Amino acid sequence: MTLREIMKYIESEYEVINKTHCEVCGGEFITEQIQLSIIEGAPFDVCSCTCENCGHEKDFFFSAPFVYEDGEPFNNTLN
Ligand SMILES: [Zn+2]
Repeated sequence: MTLREIMKYIESEYEVINKTHCEVCGGEFITEQIQLSIIEGAPFDVCSCTCENCGHEKDFFFSAPFVYEDGEPFNNTLN
């Protein structure tokens, strides 16, 4: 997977987060942290988000296919 494909993948994650509104106040989420987790043997991208309005915290889970490409966890250096 090329860097461009990874970027596209990350962008689609942000799109999902941007479309999701806080269930407490209806505000928008800000991504605080992205980390890779292994859940039941499958790699997941976990985005820890906080509502910019009320501070409600929510984690978003995305399956992370790119970690199989070179056997190394994706490094979050795109910030
Ligand atoms: Zn909120």
